Amino acid sequence: MKILTLHVDYINFKPLKKALKKIADLPEKEKEGQKIGESLVVLTAVEKGDTVKESVGELVKNIEDIAKQVKIKSIVLYPYAHLSSNLASPETAEEILREAEIELKKNFKVVRAPFGYYKEFELKVKGHPLSELSREIRTEGKQVQEEIYNASQLLREISKSKLDTSKLKDNDHRIIGQEMDLFSFNEVAPGMVLWHNNGLIIKNGLTDFWREEHKKAGYQEISTPQMMDSKLWKVSGHWDKYKGNNFISEYEKRLFLLKPMNCPGGMLVYKARPKSYRDLPLRVAEMGVVHRVELSGVLSGLFRLIQFTQDDAHLFCADEKQTKEEIKKIVELINFFYNKFNLKFDHVELSTRPEKRIGTDETWTKAEKLLEDVLKDLKIKYKVNKGEGAFYGPKIDFHVKDSLERTWQVSTIQLDFSMPDRFELEYTDRDNSKKRPIMLHRVIYGSLERFIAIMLEHTNGRLPTWLAPVQVRVLSFTDRNEPYARKVIKKLGEAIPEMRMDADFRSVPVPTKVRDAELMRINYIIVVGDKEEKGNTVAVRVKGDKRIKTMKPEEFVKSLKKEIQEKR
Ligand SMILES: [Zn+2]
Repeated sequence: MKILTLHVDYINFKPLKKALKKIADLPEKEKEGQKIGESLVVLTAVEKGDTVKESVGELVKNIEDIAKQVKIKSIVLYPYAHLSSNLASPETAEEILREAEIELKKNFKVVRAPFGYYKEFELKVKGHPLSELSREIRTEGKQVQEEIYNASQLLREISKSKLDTSKLKDNDHRIIGQEMDLFSFNEVAPGMVLWHNNGLIIKNGLTDFWREEHKKAGYQEISTPQMMDSKLWKVSGHWDKYKGNNFISEYEKRLFLLKPMNCPGGMLVYKARPKSYRDLPLRVAEMGVVHRVELSGVLSGLFRLIQFTQDDAHLFCADEKQTKEEIKKIVELINFFYNKFNLKFDHVELSTRPEKRIGTDETWTKAEKLLEDVLKDLKIKYKVNKGEGAFYGPKIDFHVKDSLERTWQVSTIQLDFSMPDRFELEYTDRDNSKKRPIMLHRVIYGSLERFIAIMLEHTNGRLPTWLAPVQVRVLSFTDRNEPYARKVIKKLGEAIPEMRMDADFRSVPVPTKVRDAELMRINYIIVVGDKEEKGNTVAVRVKGDKRIKTMKPEEFVKSLKKEIQEKR
């Protein structure tokens, strides 16, 4: 609730018309409004979350306190929605004011201005220094203006969030993202992405592909809550180890944590139904949105965010042998993804026990040896990163090299003997005994957002056709070619309904249209002029290529269809 108290010499107000449909008509005499002498005017805006029980008492206490200070016995309760942009329901607001009136009437003379009406009012605020608010309000309506002014001032500040490109290289994904209209950032959401339609097409494309391939590889998919009670994070160990790096919220006097990791939710899903050795190895994937507190100074486009999407998966294995087999399969899957995106596999790092950790030394030794054995079996050369493991287990990190010869750590496989212990995970073995599964955590893209940044810089925005936000743009050479161009669009659209195609029929020179399409990194630019119209053909310009090929629309459809289907 927001209130603004004004100690006035007088206030005159008059209802004009209803602001809310459901409000009952006023009695005749109230329609004329009122003129009230010296009093304390209390402008109020009841907000979402205010409850009758608590708000009435607080409101009355505050008013009594101020009234005592200015030595006044006359109160005007004045509903004033402009104070807030987060208003409660009219029912709640009216009830709070009605109840407050009853309470205040025990000690004061109270007038309540009509609720749910537009009103005109005039008042003269006293100039004494006792009330901070009255000092600000000297003339009629000043405070009103100030509130509105503040909101638009804030809006101007928010709208100023523009990308400063002065320190960025030309191929920075933030510049490419702006040129292709993929995403933006705003200072009201530091380290969080506002995905535009074009950018979401890429994100969804990567997700769909991921889902398809994981289904083929025998994974299930789950989704777990964004926020869970601190109890859970105390069990998982996140509460003690990383309290300062997490966003904490409150609900009904319970502390909640915005999930920084998907694992604990995954544990709850595992425990929800009894498991047997027949269920193992169990591969459970989750495209999970996580939040981690980062200093605003280290945030950097899509590379380092506060909110990001992990292509997580947890694998539960019966024994060490099964665990080794599963790790090998994950390595295969990782390689398959890198090949798809033309990223070169560069090197592997094995990260061992860190200082902050859970689990016994014996367990750590066993876990580290298991990972080393797998790498040796696969004949993968690796470098040891002492002390860089996760707090629950050692890990293998995969580094790739992009077209600019830069290396990135993308995928990770982590071995975990601890989490299953902490969550008391079990499965029933052949002999009916209860056993603990061994657990693997792994990501392939890592952070989906970061992977998109790598891909944008790796390809300079020229994404493979299957992933590109706009795959085809049709340009008319002159206005008179527009009808033929429309026919071509219809034909192509019917042949490949899933094709992402748009058109540029503006009356600007063709080189301008081509330049704009190039800036958007559209894969195929189709130009139709008189010559094409006469020959029933199209002139196709492949992205990043100066050459133009004239062909029949059917020919183009055939090759494009193949390209999309094969995800090239
Ligand atoms: Zn995990």
